[in-house]
Amino acid sequence: MNLSKYIELIKAGEVVAFPTETVYGLGADAWNPSAIQKIFKVKGRPSDNPLIVHISDLQQIENFALDIPESTQKLMDAFWPGPLSLILKKKPEVLDAVTAGLDTVAIRMPSHPLALEFIFKTGPLVAPSANTSGKPSPTKAEHVKQDFGEYFPVIDGEATKIGLESTVIDLSQVIPSILRPGSISRKQIEEVLGTFVEESFFHHTEKPRSPGQKYSHYKPNADVRWLKEDEQPNDPFCLYLLISNSEQASNIINYNGDLNRLAAELYDRFRQADVEGFGSVVIEIFDDLNSHIAPVLLNRIQKALH
Ligand code: AMP
Ligand code: MG
Repeated sequence: MNLSKYIELIKAGEVVAFPTETVYGLGADAWNPSAIQKIFKVKGRPSDNPLIVHISDLQQIENFALDIPESTQKLMDAFWPGPLSLILKKKPEVLDAVTAGLDTVAIRMPSHPLALEFIFKTGPLVAPSANTSGKPSPTKAEHVKQDFGEYFPVIDGEATKIGLESTVIDLSQVIPSILRPGSISRKQIEEVLGTFVEESFFHHTEKPRSPGQKYSHYKPNADVRWLKEDEQPNDPFCLYLLISNSEQASNIINYNGDLNRLAAELYDRFRQADVEGFGSVVIEIFDDLNSHIAPVLLNRIQKALH
């Protein structure tokens, strides 16, 4: 794909949406304050919610972070490029608009080939999910256009593979701490680091360590709820996402136990419900303890429940 017009837009201080393996990001030059302001304006994003810097080369981390602990190299070797965002102490020159005034910065190297090529040619980009704040994250180019309009610049890289946002881990404190669960699990991280990793996203406080966690996310206009025990999936105004139940109908999607596919499609189904006018999205409860993605799906679904 020819990316030159998108690269020119970034260099001219504009914002461009691009695919990653998690969700579509809304990119702006990480060193251009007015371009970054456009991200907050386009998304309607609260200004206290910091952005993740996306890089294409391991060396670039040194332009943003200070006092980089040993654990960083281990995690980069194991999981980059990939769906893991690292929070590190920031260099003084990192723009306040990027970190929302925090003394740390979040950095990730995505694995999607188009994302890597794009960032390689533009330089580091800040990129939150390319949706209107409060809406489900986009997993297809058409989702970005639903939120930002038909003529909005989007690099179309087809549907994203993972479909849920990256794992966010804070390495700026003595004990590494997962601030947002993602497809890279605590267990995988503990195996690589050989140390205990804490999880601190089970909070509803006013001032969580990851500011984004206090905002309602991922919500369609339709109500999202769990399928009740003994409930039959027979209401035509509901879109049913079933895991084990084998009912068939146009408003019933059957995942046959494939939670990775449910994760990849969840936000698309939320958006489908709104486009097609369903009143509710009804999801069958799952408790596949062997699956890495199950707790991540639970986290995102819980945030979308009415
Ligand atoms: P998004 O890119 O829209 O998926 O959101 C990025 C997430 O990373 C939000 O939940 C932010 O609060 C979080 N984040 C970004 N930078 C930091 C940071 N320096 N400290 C803690 N959380 C951060
Ligand atoms: Mg987001």
